[in-house]
Amino acid sequence: MLTQEQIEQLEAFDAQGARVLSVYLDLDPASQIRRSYRIAFEDLVKALRARLEGQEQADLSREVERVQTWLDSQDPRGKGLAVFSCTPRGLWHASFFAVRVMNHLAFEPTPDVAPLLRLVDEYERYAVAVVDKERARLFTVFLGEIEEMEEFKDFVIGKHRQGGVSDARYQRHHETHVYWHLKRVAQRLAELHRRRRFDRLILAGPEEATTELRRVLPRALAHRVAAVIPAEVFASEREILDKTLEVERRIERESEERLVRQLVDLAGPGGRAILGVRPTLAALWADLVQTLVVAHSVRGDGSECPNCLRLEPGRVESCPTCGAAMRHLHDIYHRAMERAVDQAGSVEVVYGEAERHLVDVGGGLGALLRYASPVPQAAVR
Ligand SMILES: [Zn+2]
Repeated sequence: MLTQEQIEQLEAFDAQGARVLSVYLDLDPASQIRRSYRIAFEDLVKALRARLEGQEQADLSREVERVQTWLDSQDPRGKGLAVFSCTPRGLWHASFFAVRVMNHLAFEPTPDVAPLLRLVDEYERYAVAVVDKERARLFTVFLGEIEEMEEFKDFVIGKHRQGGVSDARYQRHHETHVYWHLKRVAQRLAELHRRRRFDRLILAGPEEATTELRRVLPRALAHRVAAVIPAEVFASEREILDKTLEVERRIERESEERLVRQLVDLAGPGGRAILGVRPTLAALWADLVQTLVVAHSVRGDGSECPNCLRLEPGRVESCPTCGAAMRHLHDIYHRAMERAVDQAGSVEVVYGEAERHLVDVGGGLGALLRYASPVPQAAVR
């Protein structure tokens, strides 16, 4: 994972007239089996090379070779990859991510960090407090990984006097100690929040402890509680991470389903949303898309006009708008996502239930629009 500091260093890097190759590759499990991310990389290089000339092409080839050699030597880890390379200025940086990134290539005077900034922007940071009556372990989880961790134990006297004889005064004493301990946990969480600005909080542990902790949380933290789950205070980091990602996925799925319902509600003549492959591509062409919504599994080729940038599904010989010869694209959905990002819009890929719904109502593609739609909705699909 890249730290904020590393991103800032890349952002400030000056290639002094040379160019930096920035590579982002989606390493989803399907593409790792056949190493097909290598093919995606080669396709991106081909498209980029076509836009360069003479010396620039030679400079690109040098960096591409370096990246290819490195890719051959690596077993892919995680779900995404970013590489920055500028041989003449001694820049080399490679990071694997536990989250997916969109395939993307740039060869420019500075590293292209925009996709990294988008990741940081789009993902929520979670804090997890694993507690019992005397121990606490606090974690932050960001971009699919544990980012920070601290643990502590407070002195709590037992429920019973030595010898096991129950005593009401001893019992009260014990409860007070537990209360102090959980108060301290709440305090540490507040400090963590000042440092790391987490969006959501998960409380984990035996029910008695999590219930009491929830009661003593300051209000700013209480309303961030996303889940309260049973757990052992000694649970492994892997278990804690898995549980956190499970909560995160559930919350994401719910928000994706809301988004698709919103598309359906707002679509229609003069509405603020659009559904269907062809109308959505038309809205992209007209620079109307605020949020492009794409079903995760949709695939299909398409055509792009090099002159007016119109996008069409399938093979189209000449542009319906300007008549220029269109270029064939292997993946029209990926091109649509790039286009949305270029136009300062955002992209939401939806999975599961939301994905099925979007395929049903819009062939897997739709968008929230910046303005009410002047694009005719008749040609859905
Ligand atoms: Zn055209």
